[in-house]
Amino acid sequence: MDVLNKILDLLMFRIGTEQTENGKVTPIVTLGSIAWGILLRSAIVIFLSFLFMSLIENRKIWWISFLVLWAFAAYPGWKQYLFYKKHLQDVSESTLCGKCVHFDETGQLCKLYDEHISEGYVPCGGVDWEPKPFEQDEND
Ligand code: SF4
Repeated sequence: MDVLNKILDLLMFRIGTEQTENGKVTPIVTLGSIAWGILLRSAIVIFLSFLFMSLIENRKIWWISFLVLWAFAAYPGWKQYLFYKKHLQDVSESTLCGKCVHFDETGQLCKLYDEHISEGYVPCGGVDWEPKPFEQDEND
């Protein structure tokens, strides 16, 4: 079942879900999970396209594969990227970790504790918080 859950997570562009303090369940999305999701979806579309083309033996409609690739892989990946950017902005504004030098934005985790952070969970409890250098904070 773990493998099935992993494949489902990849197809949904996430590495799992987290429960916030108010009980809301939200997906954990990272740049890596988006890239893996797009790759997996693209591989499925390409495989099915070859299968479909060999079955119908009409090569003139090859362009349909590109439409399906766009609709099933690229566009959902783009939408997830927008969700990721919005979520990252919310985390940066509403948590201590968002302003900490140990926060890794691409993986949304604390580099010191190697744990994912959320709006309701700060792995160090604030003890190891160090402010980002001013220039780094400005570039965010
Ligand atoms: S050290 Fe503490 S405040 Fe900084 S990112 Fe890690 S958990 Fe967050």
